[in-house]
Amino acid sequence: MTARVLLLGGTGDALAIARTLGSQHVYSLAGLGRVPADLACAVRVGGFGGPQGLARFLADEGIALVFDATHPYAAQISANAARACEAAHVLYWALRRAPWQPQPGDDWRMVGDWAGVSEAIAPFARPLFTLGREPLAHLDEVPPQQHWTIRCLDAHPGHARARVIDARGPFTPEGERALFTEARIDVVVSKNSGGAATEAKLAVARDMSLPVVMMRRPPLPGAQRELASAREAIEAIDHAIQRSFNA
Ligand code: NAP
Repeated sequence: MTARVLLLGGTGDALAIARTLGSQHVYSLAGLGRVPADLACAVRVGGFGGPQGLARFLADEGIALVFDATHPYAAQISANAARACEAAHVLYWALRRAPWQPQPGDDWRMVGDWAGVSEAIAPFARPLFTLGREPLAHLDEVPPQQHWTIRCLDAHPGHARARVIDARGPFTPEGERALFTEARIDVVVSKNSGGAATEAKLAVARDMSLPVVMMRRPPLPGAQRELASAREAIEAIDHAIQRSFNA
């Protein structure tokens, strides 16, 4: 069987890489978001059943390289992939997008988890959450003095003190400023995703002197090669395929 690439995705960068893969390669999604229907490569959806399940998949499908282009906060699948690759003697490479760095004028308050977020936003009245779907699990915890604005990929009715905006980046500074003003945002809650698509909120928070409650990145496993952008990843994968994965 021809040696194949398994691309782990769920991000815009992963989709950009997937668009360059030929039909023998596989793009894998957890199944929480949109599944593209216009790719040349195969697309599979859903978990593998932990590292053992993934190691079995790698052996059964003749995978020579796992390329991890998952989100920097998707730590479980990255840990599973590193373990499975070690067990199955398969290459493990990853896209490790650089985190955003605070700029002069920024007021970042670092937290490690939801409890930290709750504590950090307690003095504020109108937080904007850009953490994905996690705040939806806490809608019954909105304190009486707060109104939450939650931006994520899920449509949800919210309630009288929680508005859910179902929107996908990229976001512009003009759009962010309009949202912050209209929703009277007084604190922004964010993951440190890195990249340009969702960075505008940080510049607008800086301009408007708003604090940012920033969730720390989880630790990720080391990879045999770490690429910093989709463009670098595409070149490296293409080169490896041309050489049939020989060093
Ligand atoms: P996670 O906690 O790291 O993974 C949970 C489980 O979901 C994994 O153990 C695995 O199940 C399955 N899974 C995750 N990514 C997969 C993939 N690409 N292909 C097949 N199975 C996958 O992940 P998460 O934080 O829930 O994120 C889920 C997906 O959303 C990821 O693919 C990620 O790239 C994307 N995403 C996450 C965030 C975020 O903030 N976490 C933001 C944007 C996009 P098994 O153990 O059964 O294999």
